[in-house]
Amino acid sequence: MGIADGKTALVVGVANEKSLAFSIAQELRAQGAAVALTYQGEVLEKRVRPLAAQIGAEVIGELDVTNDGQIAETFAALHKKYGGLDMLVHAVAFAERDDLRDRFLNVNRTNFARAMEISAYSLVALARAAEPLMEARGGGSIVTLSYIGAVRAIPNYNMMGVAKAALEACVRYLAMDLGAKGIRINALSAGPARTLSSSAIRDFFTMAHHVEERSPLKRAMKIEEVGKMGAVLLSDLSSGVTGQTVYVDVGYSIVG
Ligand code: NAD
Repeated sequence: MGIADGKTALVVGVANEKSLAFSIAQELRAQGAAVALTYQGEVLEKRVRPLAAQIGAEVIGELDVTNDGQIAETFAALHKKYGGLDMLVHAVAFAERDDLRDRFLNVNRTNFARAMEISAYSLVALARAAEPLMEARGGGSIVTLSYIGAVRAIPNYNMMGVAKAALEACVRYLAMDLGAKGIRINALSAGPARTLSSSAIRDFFTMAHHVEERSPLKRAMKIEEVGKMGAVLLSDLSSGVTGQTVYVDVGYSIVG
């Protein structure tokens, strides 16, 4: 008996085996959910298909979150295949490499808008598309991925910190809109992990080392820990929790 038995999940944001989204997808499968994955473009499709096969997930199609047509197609395909949706994982973020180093002050209008669109607005777009499918199931749960740079000025995190602050605010407002329909939404704020995205942030791993040394648990976060808490937030075990940012960061965020 798993905590996600009989549930259907869409996981957006798998790029490779180190992706935090993949860790959540793996745990959801282990807990009994049917899992659908998307991929961003042909290059990543080649990585996502074998990973889906490895865990017994379905690849539902291509999804670039800046493409409204692909968002509509993804949810239409989900509706056709499963008739509804219980769980949605949004693990998508982007900022230009130049905006993840040196001075935040230098970000230009175009790059600012693009980072906000991909990293924050996309949650709203996906939640809106998921709403009728979750309503068909009498409710649902959505999880997005955030980072402590949303609430503290972390060196070099810069533009992404601003986007994560917007993302966490989106979670609160979406929780208000969706709550009456039994749809919950939370942000999981993860500790630093070595992934494709984080490698773009200058000195990110110096910071990761600092977390290991200073955190109460005195070690790095394991990506499986994101998977496990993701599954809890998506399942009925967290039925009274919505609009929150939950830290899975080996306790780093409480240290003064
Ligand atoms: P990752 O590179 O494995 O995942 C990022 C994903 O975003 C990729 O799958 C990529 O395809 C997707 N993406 C980017 N632009 C997109 C677009 N236009 N359309 C569709 N998908 C797009 O890295 P990750 O670290 O697993 O990142 C997942 C989430 O976790 C991100 O929101 C990231 O900010 C967050 N996060 C990461 C860390 C960390 O230390 N790695 C810590 C806290 C939060």
